[in-house]
Amino acid sequence: MRQKTRKKHRKGKRIVLSLLVLILTISAVRFAVNQTAFQDFLHFNTDVASMEHGWNLILVNWEYKIPKDWKVELTELSNGQSVDSRIYPDLQQMFDDMRAQEVYPVVASGYRTAKKQRELMDDKVDSFLAQGYSRSEAKSEAKKWVADVGYSEHQTGLAVDINADGVNSSGQQVYAWLADNAWKYGFILRYPEDKTEITKTDYEPWHYRYVGAESAAKIYESGLCLEEYIGMMN
Ligand SMILES: [Zn+2]
Repeated sequence: MRQKTRKKHRKGKRIVLSLLVLILTISAVRFAVNQTAFQDFLHFNTDVASMEHGWNLILVNWEYKIPKDWKVELTELSNGQSVDSRIYPDLQQMFDDMRAQEVYPVVASGYRTAKKQRELMDDKVDSFLAQGYSRSEAKSEAKKWVADVGYSEHQTGLAVDINADGVNSSGQQVYAWLADNAWKYGFILRYPEDKTEITKTDYEPWHYRYVGAESAAKIYESGLCLEEYIGMMN
Protein backbone atom coordinates (compact mmCIF):
# COMPACT_ATOMS: atom_id res chain seq x y z
CA MET A 1 0.00 0.00 0.00
CA ARG A 2 2.79 2.37 1.02
CA GLN A 3 4.76 1.28 -2.06
CA LYS A 4 1.85 2.07 -4.31
CA THR A 5 1.65 5.62 -2.89
CA ARG A 6 5.37 6.10 -3.48
CA LYS A 7 5.00 4.84 -7.05
CA LYS A 8 2.16 7.23 -7.62
CA HIS A 9 4.26 9.98 -6.13
CA ARG A 10 7.16 9.17 -8.45
CA LYS A 11 4.84 9.10 -11.44
CA GLY A 12 3.56 12.56 -10.49
CA LYS A 13 7.12 13.87 -10.28
CA ARG A 14 7.91 12.49 -13.72
CA ILE A 15 4.87 14.20 -15.21
CA VAL A 16 5.82 17.54 -13.63
CA LEU A 17 9.40 17.15 -14.87
CA SER A 18 8.25 16.28 -18.41
CA LEU A 19 5.95 19.27 -18.45
CA LEU A 20 8.79 21.50 -17.30
CA VAL A 21 11.09 20.18 -20.04
CA LEU A 22 8.32 20.68 -22.61
CA ILE A 23 7.70 24.27 -21.49
CA LEU A 24 11.43 25.04 -21.55
CA THR A 25 11.81 23.51 -25.02
CA ILE A 26 8.86 25.50 -26.37
CA SER A 27 10.27 28.71 -24.86
CA ALA A 28 13.73 28.01 -26.30
CA VAL A 29 12.32 27.35 -29.79
CA ARG A 30 10.15 30.48 -29.63
CA PHE A 31 13.14 32.53 -28.52
CA ALA A 32 15.32 31.13 -31.33
CA VAL A 33 12.64 31.79 -33.98
CA ASN A 34 12.45 35.41 -32.86
CA GLN A 35 16.17 36.00 -33.21
CA THR A 36 17.21 37.90 -36.32
CA ALA A 37 20.16 35.59 -36.97
CA PHE A 38 17.88 32.59 -36.93
CA GLN A 39 15.44 34.31 -39.24
CA ASP A 40 18.29 35.02 -41.63
CA PHE A 41 19.09 31.33 -41.46
CA LEU A 42 15.49 30.50 -42.35
CA HIS A 43 15.98 32.55 -45.51
CA PHE A 44 18.83 30.27 -46.60
CA ASN A 45 16.83 28.58 -49.32
CA THR A 46 15.44 31.73 -50.96
CA ASP A 47 16.73 32.71 -54.34
CA VAL A 48 19.20 35.35 -55.31
CA ALA A 49 17.92 38.13 -57.55
CA SER A 50 18.82 37.61 -61.19
CA MET A 51 20.42 40.24 -63.42
CA GLU A 52 19.63 38.38 -66.65
CA HIS A 53 17.43 41.24 -67.93
CA GLY A 54 20.03 43.88 -67.12
CA TRP A 55 21.08 45.75 -64.01
CA ASN A 56 18.04 48.02 -64.01
CA LEU A 57 15.59 45.11 -64.11
CA ILE A 58 16.98 43.26 -61.13
CA LEU A 59 14.07 41.96 -59.07
CA VAL A 60 14.76 42.33 -55.36
CA ASN A 61 11.77 41.57 -53.14
CA TRP A 62 10.63 39.43 -50.21
CA GLU A 63 11.66 36.38 -52.20
CA TYR A 64 14.82 37.40 -54.02
CA LYS A 65 17.86 38.62 -52.20
CA ILE A 66 20.46 41.06 -53.52
CA PRO A 67 23.37 39.12 -55.02
CA LYS A 68 26.57 39.16 -52.97
CA ASP A 69 28.52 40.58 -55.92
CA TRP A 70 26.11 43.52 -56.46
CA LYS A 71 28.29 46.58 -56.68
CA VAL A 72 26.99 50.09 -56.34
CA GLU A 73 28.77 53.25 -57.32
CA LEU A 74 27.09 56.10 -55.51
CA THR A 75 26.36 59.72 -56.24
CA GLU A 76 25.61 61.82 -53.19
CA LEU A 77 22.68 64.21 -53.31
CA SER A 78 22.72 67.66 -51.75
CA ASN A 79 20.78 66.48 -48.69
CA GLY A 80 23.24 63.69 -47.90
CA GLN A 81 21.22 60.81 -49.42
CA SER A 82 22.89 58.75 -52.16
CA VAL A 83 21.73 56.86 -55.24
CA ASP A 84 23.33 54.58 -57.83
CA SER A 85 25.27 56.90 -60.15
CA ARG A 86 23.59 55.33 -63.20
CA ILE A 87 20.14 56.63 -62.16
CA TYR A 88 21.30 60.04 -61.04
CA PRO A 89 20.97 61.95 -64.37
CA ASP A 90 17.34 60.85 -64.86
CA LEU A 91 16.48 61.53 -61.22
CA GLN A 92 18.00 65.00 -61.45
CA GLN A 93 16.14 65.74 -64.67
CA MET A 94 12.86 64.61 -63.10
CA PHE A 95 13.39 66.81 -60.07
CA ASP A 96 14.31 69.79 -62.24
CA ASP A 97 11.12 69.34 -64.26
CA MET A 98 9.00 68.94 -61.14
CA ARG A 99 10.35 72.16 -59.65
CA ALA A 100 9.76 73.94 -62.95
CA GLN A 101 6.10 72.95 -62.48
CA GLU A 102 6.16 74.17 -58.88
CA VAL A 103 6.18 70.77 -57.24
CA TYR A 104 8.96 70.48 -54.69
CA PRO A 105 10.24 66.98 -53.89
CA VAL A 106 12.99 65.60 -51.68
CA VAL A 107 14.64 62.20 -51.63
CA ALA A 108 13.75 61.08 -48.13
CA SER A 109 15.63 57.82 -48.52
CA GLY A 110 17.90 56.55 -51.27
CA TYR A 111 20.66 53.98 -50.98
CA ARG A 112 20.86 52.09 -47.69
CA THR A 113 23.58 49.91 -46.28
CA ALA A 114 22.67 46.53 -44.78
CA LYS A 115 23.37 48.02 -41.34
CA LYS A 116 20.93 50.86 -41.95
CA GLN A 117 18.30 48.42 -43.21
CA ARG A 118 18.67 46.33 -40.06
CA GLU A 119 18.26 49.43 -37.87
CA LEU A 120 15.07 50.37 -39.70
CA MET A 121 13.68 46.87 -39.25
CA ASP A 122 14.57 46.81 -35.55
CA ASP A 123 12.93 50.22 -35.01
CA LYS A 124 9.76 49.11 -36.80
CA VAL A 125 9.57 45.90 -34.76
CA ASP A 126 10.06 47.93 -31.56
CA SER A 127 7.20 50.26 -32.52
CA PHE A 128 4.82 47.29 -32.89
CA LEU A 129 6.08 45.75 -29.64
CA ALA A 130 5.28 49.05 -27.94
CA GLN A 131 1.72 48.73 -29.28
CA GLY A 132 1.39 45.41 -27.47
CA TYR A 133 2.08 42.95 -30.30
CA SER A 134 3.99 39.76 -29.51
CA ARG A 135 7.49 39.57 -30.98
CA SER A 136 6.50 37.31 -33.87
CA GLU A 137 3.41 39.42 -34.64
CA ALA A 138 5.51 42.60 -34.45
CA LYS A 139 8.00 41.11 -36.89
CA SER A 140 5.36 40.11 -39.42
CA GLU A 141 3.62 43.49 -39.14
CA ALA A 142 6.97 45.26 -39.58
CA LYS A 143 7.70 43.21 -42.69
CA LYS A 144 4.71 44.82 -44.41
CA TRP A 145 6.53 48.14 -44.17
CA VAL A 146 10.22 47.41 -43.97
CA ALA A 147 12.11 44.79 -45.94
CA ASP A 148 14.48 42.38 -44.25
CA VAL A 149 18.20 42.94 -44.63
CA GLY A 150 19.26 41.89 -48.13
CA TYR A 151 15.69 42.08 -49.44
CA SER A 152 15.31 45.85 -49.72
CA GLU A 153 15.47 47.63 -53.05
CA HIS A 154 17.07 50.51 -51.18
CA GLN A 155 20.20 48.38 -50.80
CA THR A 156 20.53 48.32 -54.60
CA GLY A 157 20.73 52.12 -54.90
CA LEU A 158 18.00 51.95 -57.57
CA ALA A 159 15.09 52.94 -55.32
CA VAL A 160 14.13 56.29 -53.87
CA ASP A 161 11.49 57.39 -51.40
CA ILE A 162 10.31 60.75 -52.68
CA ASN A 163 8.42 63.07 -50.41
CA ALA A 164 7.41 66.70 -50.39
CA ASP A 165 9.80 69.33 -49.07
CA GLY A 166 7.16 70.08 -46.47
CA VAL A 167 7.18 73.81 -47.17
CA ASN A 168 6.21 74.48 -50.76
CA SER A 169 4.46 71.22 -51.61
CA SER A 170 2.31 68.64 -49.89
CA GLY A 171 2.89 64.91 -50.09
CA GLN A 172 -0.28 64.51 -52.13
CA GLN A 173 0.97 66.95 -54.77
CA VAL A 174 4.28 65.15 -55.08
CA TYR A 175 2.72 61.66 -55.19
CA ALA A 176 0.17 62.75 -57.79
CA TRP A 177 2.85 64.25 -60.02
CA LEU A 178 5.02 61.15 -59.72
CA ALA A 179 2.13 58.78 -60.43
CA ASP A 180 1.49 60.61 -63.73
CA ASN A 181 5.02 61.42 -64.83
CA ALA A 182 7.78 59.36 -63.19
CA TRP A 183 7.66 56.72 -65.94
CA LYS A 184 8.89 59.28 -68.47
CA TYR A 185 12.16 59.38 -66.52
CA GLY A 186 12.47 55.62 -66.10
CA PHE A 187 10.92 55.32 -62.63
CA ILE A 188 7.95 53.16 -61.63
CA LEU A 189 5.61 53.16 -58.66
CA ARG A 190 6.99 49.99 -57.16
CA TYR A 191 4.21 49.05 -54.72
CA PRO A 192 0.85 49.96 -56.30
CA GLU A 193 -2.31 49.85 -54.23
CA ASP A 194 -3.86 47.02 -56.26
CA LYS A 195 -0.77 44.77 -56.29
CA THR A 196 -0.09 44.25 -52.60
CA GLU A 197 -0.97 40.54 -52.89
CA ILE A 198 1.90 40.12 -55.33
CA THR A 199 4.44 42.56 -53.96
CA LYS A 200 3.68 41.55 -50.35
CA THR A 201 4.23 45.21 -49.52
CA ASP A 202 1.65 47.80 -48.56
CA TYR A 203 0.91 50.67 -50.95
CA GLU A 204 3.79 53.15 -50.89
CA PRO A 205 3.06 56.22 -53.03
CA TRP A 206 6.55 57.56 -52.30
CA HIS A 207 8.66 54.55 -53.27
CA TYR A 208 9.96 54.72 -56.86
CA ARG A 209 12.24 52.29 -58.56
CA TYR A 210 14.43 52.95 -61.58
CA VAL A 211 13.95 50.45 -64.41
CA GLY A 212 14.87 52.65 -67.40
CA ALA A 213 12.54 54.59 -69.69
CA GLU A 214 11.63 51.71 -72.03
CA SER A 215 10.44 49.32 -69.29
CA ALA A 216 8.92 52.12 -67.23
CA ALA A 217 6.68 53.11 -70.17
CA LYS A 218 5.56 49.50 -70.70
CA ILE A 219 4.90 48.98 -66.99
CA TYR A 220 2.98 52.26 -66.75
CA GLU A 221 0.83 51.49 -69.80
CA SER A 222 0.12 47.88 -68.87
CA GLY A 223 -0.59 48.51 -65.20
CA LEU A 224 1.58 45.53 -64.29
CA CYS A 225 3.84 45.55 -61.26
CA LEU A 226 7.53 44.70 -61.59
CA GLU A 227 7.02 41.09 -60.49
CA GLU A 228 4.42 40.57 -63.23
CA TYR A 229 6.45 42.40 -65.88
CA ILE A 230 9.57 40.35 -65.25
CA GLY A 231 7.47 37.20 -64.99
CA MET A 232 6.23 37.87 -68.54
CA MET A 233 9.77 38.32 -69.83
CA ASN A 234 10.92 35.00 -68.39
ZN1 LIG B 1 11.25 52.90 -50.07
